[in-house]
Amino acid sequence: MAVLQTKGVHPSLAVIIVGDDPASRIYVNNKKKACEYIGIRSEEYALPGNTTQEELLTLIETLNESNIDGILCQLPLPSHLDEKAVINAIRPDKDVDAFHPVNVGKIMIGDYDFLPCTPAGVMELIKESGISIVGKECVVIGRSNIVGKPMSMLLLHAHGTVTICHSKTRDLAETVRQADIVVAAVGVPELITGDMIKEGAVVIDVGMNRLPNGKLVGDVAFDAAIEKASAITPVPGGVGPMTIAMLMKNTVKASLLHQELK
Ligand code: NAP
Repeated sequence: MAVLQTKGVHPSLAVIIVGDDPASRIYVNNKKKACEYIGIRSEEYALPGNTTQEELLTLIETLNESNIDGILCQLPLPSHLDEKAVINAIRPDKDVDAFHPVNVGKIMIGDYDFLPCTPAGVMELIKESGISIVGKECVVIGRSNIVGKPMSMLLLHAHGTVTICHSKTRDLAETVRQADIVVAAVGVPELITGDMIKEGAVVIDVGMNRLPNGKLVGDVAFDAAIEKASAITPVPGGVGPMTIAMLMKNTVKASLLHQELK
């Protein structure tokens, strides 16, 4: 960061949080801490739970026109707010979550500025572990716009043979058993059991599920899966920190893009 700053690049991130959801508060605090740690200027906009759609869109419009590099609106939003309209309101060149349809389309054709943070973090983990994706059977469980779908696209770009599973998949266990690389992004505690994991498979657990006793667990039954897997990510401490690291990367990228435009 020091090198960038000597070149006049001072990345900045606006983080919007609406309401008092405890999980969202933890995520926002972690993002702010990461900014502080690497030297990104962060501005928090903590809005009350009864904020109107118009008030939120007005704030985004102001930030779009300001000199801030990145804008992030922590999801989920309270139910009276229209998430889609909020995502669409953020200027694509400031959309460090990469949720705007323009950025989603760019990812689809493989010509992008930003990648969504969680799938990008998973790709980085795989790459840094020296694991090749080329020709591998990749099974992604989950098809959300923020994790499952972009994850599948990135694995496809990396030349994996990708299967996407969801709640209507006929035989989840048998499909997962074929996988060389499993990415679970479901939100169901320990849905993926040890018997579904092929010997030597790479297992990436995106899930973050809070049990009634307060314990945080993933979508994979870790203790059983580790017996079979050649590599596996824990929850917590696996994909979560990578997601934040990729947010920092996107914010620096946004700043560099804005620098070029000056
Ligand atoms: P989501 O929007 O609720 O999507 C869940 C997906 O899982 C859906 O596609 C759903 O299928 C599928 N699914 C649900 N039950 C299933 C079942 N029994 N068998 C097969 N598929 C099933 O969730 P998300 O936002 O993608 O998040 C997924 C998980 O990742 C959550 O635990 C979330 O907390 C976690 N997460 C972690 C990070 C991180 O930084 N580590 C970031 C984002 C999310 P349908 O489409 O058919 O409904």
